[in-house]
Amino acid sequence: KPCYLFALVGGNLGSIASEFTTMSGRRVDLAIYVEAGKEARCGWAMEALKRSMAWDEQRFGREYDLEVFNIVAVSDFNMGAMENKGLNIFNDRLVLASPDTATDTNLFDIERVIAHEYFHNWTGNRITCRDWFQLCLKEGLTVFRDQEFSADQGSRAVQRIHDVRALKARQFPEDAGPLAHPVRPDRYMEINNFYTATVYEKGAELVRMIATLLGPEKFRAGMDRYFDAHDGRAATIEEFVACFEAAGGRDLKQFMTWYEQAGTPDLVCQLSHDAKTRIATLEVEQVLPATPGQASKKPLHIPLRMGLIGSNGHDVPLRLADGTKIDDGVLEITERRQSFRFADVPPGVVASLLRGFSAPVNLTIGRSEADLAFLIAHDADAFNRWQAVQDYAMRLMIEAVAAFQCGRTPKPPAAFLAALAAAVTERALEPALRAQLLMLPEEADVARVIARDIDPAAIHKARAWLRRRIGVGLGGALETIWRQNAIKGAYAATPDQIGRRASRNAALDLLAARGTADDIARVAAHFDKARNATDEIAALSILSHLRTPERTRAFARFHERWRDDHIVINQWFALQAGSSLPGTLATVRKLARHPLFSARNPNKVRALIGAFATNALNFNRADGAGYAFVAEQLLALDALNPQLAARQLSAFRGWATLESGRRQLARRALTGIAKSKTLSRDTREIVGRILG
Ligand code: ASP
Ligand code: ZN
Repeated sequence: KPCYLFALVGGNLGSIASEFTTMSGRRVDLAIYVEAGKEARCGWAMEALKRSMAWDEQRFGREYDLEVFNIVAVSDFNMGAMENKGLNIFNDRLVLASPDTATDTNLFDIERVIAHEYFHNWTGNRITCRDWFQLCLKEGLTVFRDQEFSADQGSRAVQRIHDVRALKARQFPEDAGPLAHPVRPDRYMEINNFYTATVYEKGAELVRMIATLLGPEKFRAGMDRYFDAHDGRAATIEEFVACFEAAGGRDLKQFMTWYEQAGTPDLVCQLSHDAKTRIATLEVEQVLPATPGQASKKPLHIPLRMGLIGSNGHDVPLRLADGTKIDDGVLEITERRQSFRFADVPPGVVASLLRGFSAPVNLTIGRSEADLAFLIAHDADAFNRWQAVQDYAMRLMIEAVAAFQCGRTPKPPAAFLAALAAAVTERALEPALRAQLLMLPEEADVARVIARDIDPAAIHKARAWLRRRIGVGLGGALETIWRQNAIKGAYAATPDQIGRRASRNAALDLLAARGTADDIARVAAHFDKARNATDEIAALSILSHLRTPERTRAFARFHERWRDDHIVINQWFALQAGSSLPGTLATVRKLARHPLFSARNPNKVRALIGAFATNALNFNRADGAGYAFVAEQLLALDALNPQLAARQLSAFRGWATLESGRRQLARRALTGIAKSKTLSRDTREIVGRILG
């Protein structure tokens, strides 16, 4: 065995072995090395690896090339994993799993990262990057590949929702703030600082747009061409895109601008209809905001997938007035302002735009509440049904923020509740999609949309208000979802069971927002009776926000049960640090001195300091104590682990969009960091860019 395996994990190694037969009939020996005694927790990762190997053969015609493929899991690791050829190195939280220690979400992440690192064998190792500026050539492409793999394991629509939630939560704020940079950065001080959501997730969106523009066959032909032409070489983005130009027989020169320009475009759309001529006109304008170092921008090439839904709820065939049929529903936006005229459109259609989130843009279109309710009921695109729920809820929360800020009570959201109730009680709905429909945008999402003079306390109040309205208004339906989705048999990580657990737990959460004694008792009982980590953590997470004796008891019990498990106990830290209760900062200060905490372990730092720094309410305390605490922690961390300190510092990137009181306090914390004489290059670069 390679001796550096022993160096990495301290010699105390256990392993499991298996094998895979490739499509040309070659045998590959597979092994996963972990801390001795944890071998029984490697089964899920091993199965995920074999599924990944088979999928890359089927979907992309890519076969593995060596006789061995090894994975080693280590407990102290800054990243998720690393694709070293034939011997992938993993953060052990992304390998080790059993039903009582790993949630469905953990299992999903393990499968995704195992796939990601495996796929790097072709997109990263056999074809590597000519220089660091081409990092997205391997990362964006490999994220696209792992997203496609995940979509094929369960529900494609739910996978897309999951990926877009993550993109908007992580990448959109990056692109809208002081750390904005192009998918292919043109300068860097410390390359470790460019393992970003923009390079990874937006990079994947660019590949997805190429696939949308070309269609599946030509896209696959382009990938084949890339693998053939560049195998064994170091490539560039230009060479990658040229393969699709050749295979698709089209010019992608304008598309290259996506790699060069930072910032999320705003797509401002307007639909009008002429009853006499039956022509519907869609006006589209792309607004490209300035970003650091890029004041003016060129128009982008944007695939806009859309439909027009008639009043009977069915899509109207799309034909332009000049006779062109739009069979795949994709319009190509290439100019700053463009209009599309559709022929033979009946009155009363509603536009469903950006179906499947066909481009990483913000969409602006005037829509009535009735239009949103109509889309929730009828959109044939499952992603956009979900999006309509999100947009409607977002609108209500933003109105509620304004109401609370001037001392008014928001108006009751009756029409929204009716639309939501009808959607989530549909019998034929996939369970996992039902769960997604029951999950509101997060407080950070609301802050992102408000975008200036942000008052995190008002946002928290507005979201709590809407959750409570849903809990009360949909009480009966939620109780039914809770009852009907109970699982009798043994735990299994199947899409059906995962979806049922997720909808059940989402219903439980909204019922708890209603806040009756019975509702709280239901959560406590769910915790006590949980037979798997998913239910146990879901209940603990709900309790983490409630000031009740049940909460204290549950956290004590969880600690008792999991204190010796260095992975599971991270949830105990993270859920306390993410709590919306007022005493959270004091708790986190105490936990930072807890014997199980260590600033030397990256997973612990993420669980405690990272979770607190992304706690929208308590990090953003009006007195600035949250900022001061995180700044003090990150200064100390910088001496131990600059890469991690710099990464956590991005929690401050939105400081300039806060209301003035918090803005001053956050700035004071940042300038305090900037003044330190001993800062690492990593942290110096990030603090400098954040302060601008
Ligand atoms: N290349 C790794 C990944 O994205 C990250 C790293 O460099 O450690 O899989
Ligand atoms: Zn990667």
